[in-house]
Amino acid sequence: MAKSRFEYVRSFESFDACLLNSWIVVRLDGRNFHRFSDHHQFAKPNDDQALALMARCAKNVMKDFNDIILSYGQSDEFSFVFRRETEVFQRRSSKLLSTVVSLFTSSYVFFWSNHFSNTPLQYPPTFDGRIVLYPTDKNLRDYLSWRQADCHINNLHNTAYWKLVSEAGMSPNDAQTKLGKMLANDKNEMLFSQFNTNYNNIPELFRKGTVLVREPQQSQLKKHDELKKDDSKMNGDDQDTKVITNSDSLAIKDKQIFYKNKSTIINMLNTDIIGNKFWSERPYLLT
Ligand code: ATP
Ligand code: ATP
Ligand code: MG
Ligand code: MG
Ligand code: MG
Ligand code: MG
Repeated sequence: MAKSRFEYVRSFESFDACLLNSWIVVRLDGRNFHRFSDHHQFAKPNDDQALALMARCAKNVMKDFNDIILSYGQSDEFSFVFRRETEVFQRRSSKLLSTVVSLFTSSYVFFWSNHFSNTPLQYPPTFDGRIVLYPTDKNLRDYLSWRQADCHINNLHNTAYWKLVSEAGMSPNDAQTKLGKMLANDKNEMLFSQFNTNYNNIPELFRKGTVLVREPQQSQLKKHDELKKDDSKMNGDDQDTKVITNSDSLAIKDKQIFYKNKSTIINMLNTDIIGNKFWSERPYLLT
């Protein structure tokens, strides 16, 4: 196609590719959702429909981007983790960020009425977004732990705050002042003794947030195992000394196949991702 004399302006654009071999995390956060949640009568401290809508949008993003292996959300935020080797948009930062945030935001409006059938949307919501690169698996896990710890800290605070305000009739200011002087243990103790609430019995959705994790379909796992067994028979491996587990078969080089393969499912969990259990059960996630 013939080029116009204006074409040169394209060279002012920068090629903003994310560093190779690093985890790409996109985090988005509702803009001024303190106000948004008031205007839309979110239940306090935790509106479960609002959280369900956030998760629905995140799942929609993950359906569109097969290279997102995991996402984690709480309150008005969600973080999306792209696999290290992703080549989506040639790893261009602005493309990745703007497309994820835009798809999430349009999904929020698109799915709104499924979750808030009696509350019309008052105005178009905005989400901000950022990209952070993490070079090591430890950095990535620490990032996700940081977000989940934040969920817990805020939830404990908000639970205590709303008990003081709506059950004990304290003014918002007094409640803030009182809580400002209390440690986590004091808040737990107050919830228990004054409000008969065991914090640990509050739903995990509120205490842990939401993890969406891409996993191989069970049938795929089986196929992998059978293939591996056939393989080792042909190689004359001793079946007794080499126990092949689902995890082993996926832990190795099969990752590439796994992510290129469309037959993955997205599972939703409200569980701890700070400890090792979540990760050791899913060896295909990290490198
Ligand atoms: P900013 O634009 O800086 O992000 P913000 O008002 O969105 O400002 P955040 O720190 O992101 O501030 O906090 C989000 C706020 O949205 C929470 O403090 C809470 O008031 C409200 N909120 C978000 N999700 C829910 C929910 N599921 N239930 C009840 N309130 C919620
Ligand atoms: P990319 O994701 O790379 O932007 P794209 O398919 O959106 O891919 P563009 O170069 O942005 O490619 O072109 C947008 C295309 O959308 C046009 O080529 C045209 O086919 C279609 N399109 C956009 N607006 C209109 C319109 N108003 N009427 C008809 N077709 C339109
Ligand atoms: Mg913010
Ligand atoms: Mg916000
Ligand atoms: Mg927030
Ligand atoms: Mg286009």
